[in-house]
Amino acid sequence: MKYISTRGSAPKLGFEEVLLQGLAPDGGLYVPEAWPRFDADEIAAFQGLSYVDLALKIITPFVGDAITSDQLRTMVERAYNSFAHNAVVPLVQIDPSTWLLELFHGPTLSFKDVAMQLMGQLFDHALQKRGERVTIVGATSGDTGSAAIEAMRGRESIDIFILHPFGRVSNVQRRQMTTVPDSNVFNIAVDGTFDDCQSLVKVMFNEKAFHNSVKMAAVNSINWARIMAQVVYYFYAGVALGSPNQKISFSVPTGNFGNIFSGYVAAQMGLPISRLIIATNVNDILVRSLETGCYEVRDVTPTISPAMDIQVPSNFERLLLEACNRDAKQVSGLMSRLAKSGKFKLPAQALATLRHQFDSVRTNEQATRETIASTFGATGLLVDPHTAVGIAAAGVRHSGPDEIMICLSTAHPAKFSDAIELATGRCATLPSHLEDLEKRSERFVRLANDLSMVKDHISQNSRAQR
Ligand SMILES: *Cc1c(COP(=O)(O)O)cnc(C)c1O
Repeated sequence: MKYISTRGSAPKLGFEEVLLQGLAPDGGLYVPEAWPRFDADEIAAFQGLSYVDLALKIITPFVGDAITSDQLRTMVERAYNSFAHNAVVPLVQIDPSTWLLELFHGPTLSFKDVAMQLMGQLFDHALQKRGERVTIVGATSGDTGSAAIEAMRGRESIDIFILHPFGRVSNVQRRQMTTVPDSNVFNIAVDGTFDDCQSLVKVMFNEKAFHNSVKMAAVNSINWARIMAQVVYYFYAGVALGSPNQKISFSVPTGNFGNIFSGYVAAQMGLPISRLIIATNVNDILVRSLETGCYEVRDVTPTISPAMDIQVPSNFERLLLEACNRDAKQVSGLMSRLAKSGKFKLPAQALATLRHQFDSVRTNEQATRETIASTFGATGLLVDPHTAVGIAAAGVRHSGPDEIMICLSTAHPAKFSDAIELATGRCATLPSHLEDLEKRSERFVRLANDLSMVKDHISQNSRAQR
């Protein structure tokens, strides 16, 4: 399998290069040259497969001959052994035709673990084979940082530096990152906001000399391997509830558009999906785009579902290429218009394609809290605010008992216990492996929002340049 850039002027690469490179040199995102496809009989035969066996079926065509099948099996087994539930991603019914797909049973309690645990294995394998080292540098507003640290801790070929805004992530989120004892893990608390952290990382990536000196790598959701790993659970849930004979809809709490793009990929690979519902909080660029045809950046409003407080959903560019019939020139033109003026108009045919496959619903803070409360009242389940946004959207769009609806549950409620307690009066408790999180000792440096100080800290500690 070869991969092409959404902007059309980067060389085609194989799986391993795409994994290690992340962003394409022309500023675009990598996508497979063509979608692998399964027919209805093949999908019917997925019935009853374990998560690991199904993952191997779905992932193998994307990896091609970059990794042997025995090696891939070992990596997938290791990745999903780290999950606390035997089904890896269990389905829980919440009304006669609605299910929650619980994606939060991984080590750091958000759906990010599903992809990141596999990424850790894939990175380590590729780097050991090449005898190379990298320095992963990332910014986090919460969930991505802990998932990445957990996946990369203790790996000989990797050092990982995660920047978070000092005093602006929740206690649980910070402790999940700062209490990891491995010597290849470095947490930097920056005196600034999440946007400050992100722009420090961006500048470092674009400074070629620095980038090359520490061999910087990225694990944010523009990395194709993350999208690939997430396709598996759409098939897993779909087949469990009757695919390919049953059409199913998915409601997906959406921020950077990575999770729901994986659903789109599943549909391209043959899974019969009726609708993919883009569920957003009040940061609603995608809802506005589908309504008006104008893709326009606005300021971010902080919410109780912070992983979805996003201005520009970077993975949307991958969908744009599809909607423009893979005309990379057109995508490149639209993206440069976005960079110049903060907006662009979707071409009429692209808008029609998007509206055909996607539906979108925005949910405000009040309705999110009410959904947490009403779900608890109806089922006794505590759902986190991100999941609640998805459930609310599903409720608005659900057409009736004949439509099977799966809401992706993206975080464990204990990660957002304050919001849950406000909405239900109940306390969401951490699973046993994190029970003593409050007692573990923390390790991080606090730095000013200053590029040269952050660069110095990374240079002094990274092993990649030695
Ligand atoms: C990252 C995240 C999201 C958003 O997922 P995208 O792939 O960025 O759209 C939703 N919920 C939770 C809990 C998250 O951590």
